[in-house]
Amino acid sequence: MTLKLLCVASECAPFVKTGGLADVVGALGPVLDAHDVQSRVLLPLYRQIAHLASGATEVMNAGSLFGGPVRVMATSENDTDLLLIDAPHLYDRPGQIYLNESGQDWADNHLRFGLLSWLGAEIGRNGVTGWTPDVIHAHDWQAGLTPVYLRQTDSTVPCVLTIHNIAFQGNFPATTMGNLALDPHGFTQDGFEYFGQISFLKGGLMQADKITTVSPTYARELMTSEFGMGLEGVLAARHSDLSGILNGIDLRVWNPETDPALAQTYTSRTLNKKRANKQAVLDRFGLDAATDAPLFSVISRLSEQKGLDLALHALPALLDKGARFVLLGSGAPELEQAYVALAARYPDQVGVQIGFDEDLAHLIQAGADATLIPSRFEPCGLTQLCAMRYGTLPIVSVTGGLADTVIDANEAALAAGCATGFQFAPTTAAKLGDALERAMTIYSDAKLWQKIQRNAMKHPVGWDVSALRMAEIYRDMAKA
Ligand code: ADP
Repeated sequence: MTLKLLCVASECAPFVKTGGLADVVGALGPVLDAHDVQSRVLLPLYRQIAHLASGATEVMNAGSLFGGPVRVMATSENDTDLLLIDAPHLYDRPGQIYLNESGQDWADNHLRFGLLSWLGAEIGRNGVTGWTPDVIHAHDWQAGLTPVYLRQTDSTVPCVLTIHNIAFQGNFPATTMGNLALDPHGFTQDGFEYFGQISFLKGGLMQADKITTVSPTYARELMTSEFGMGLEGVLAARHSDLSGILNGIDLRVWNPETDPALAQTYTSRTLNKKRANKQAVLDRFGLDAATDAPLFSVISRLSEQKGLDLALHALPALLDKGARFVLLGSGAPELEQAYVALAARYPDQVGVQIGFDEDLAHLIQAGADATLIPSRFEPCGLTQLCAMRYGTLPIVSVTGGLADTVIDANEAALAAGCATGFQFAPTTAAKLGDALERAMTIYSDAKLWQKIQRNAMKHPVGWDVSALRMAEIYRDMAKA
């Protein structure tokens, strides 16, 4: 029997994206079709995606909620069925989806994502015109209150909550409780209270029927004080309901055979054509192309998590040997400035673009030889999966999903012919430097490098296995 699923999320690719959460929400729906799961994504109608409302049908008029009029509009785009929350007082504004034009969190983010969660629960209980879900899948803190609102009304609609990154918990002053229509009885250690504040994520973790996270290693790490960010006790207490299910990438979007953002498409059998993309990247960044030196890359948010301060220490040794390096990213101003300074120091070898650019990300994935992901923690990481699909070898720290997806080119793996990239531990600049050296050495053996590229391109990075596991979780919850 077809199972009807409501996904509640603050991002969904390709419509609105700041990171991997969007990719996952956008990719999962279409692949679930094959498992007889019909999904709809509940998403705020931000100004950035206002065009999606034209041609959409109103399926709920919720009246006045959280300070203004709220409607839900249904539409279908890019194989995804969307339920858009039209609440102009919360979403129709300039800036980014979480940050205002000065780069600060919107002061009313608790209301903006409280409403998302609230409607997730409401649609779970009463549906929208012509459609009522069997199961709800809430994503990250922004949807964390969905199971709280459900249980507040004694609804038994099952709800699974996925942690994409526990660093973001949605903690707000207790004084916001009234505006969020939360039952004050829930403001306890067993509820959504967290050190005197309201925590969207903790509330969700206490009330959700099942909890998933995005890789098996991260699921284990979350129960430790090193990675649990204060919620390790909550997760340890719920470990029998917690599973780590590896993310995949959208193979329709990330396909080097068809990708329109590439200078030249290619396959694992025509790897020589990848070279045209390298040339295009070097040209785009104005770098000296008269070389066979390897091109290393970074495509990332620039934050403490991603360990890119370490790369700043490790890169000069590589550059002094002639390597090329490009970075596409934005985030912490001090990191942005440090990379711009690196480019100024090595103008022919280093290119830096500060910002978010989906097409350029695709071109870099196709053109680079290797990509650096030296994260201090990484729930799953999608960049290494995209890289492998494009025959670009990932150089990763051994943490979370990076540990679960990359096979290090050590002697055993090389002998067995199964290496797909490079790993290093612990996450230090020195160890990253060693891994970069190893990559440089192997790169000089073109045949061996190509063998590893082919392994990487063969490695399964899609949703096949994980979508089946998610579908099983939905069905188990619906049966219970
Ligand atoms: P996170 O969600 O922690 O940012 P992931 O590796 O899970 O990290 O997902 C990052 C996603 O965002 C990938 O699809 C990556 O290509 C993309 N991305 C990151 N930074 C940029 C950027 N500056 N421009 C374009 N895409 C980016």
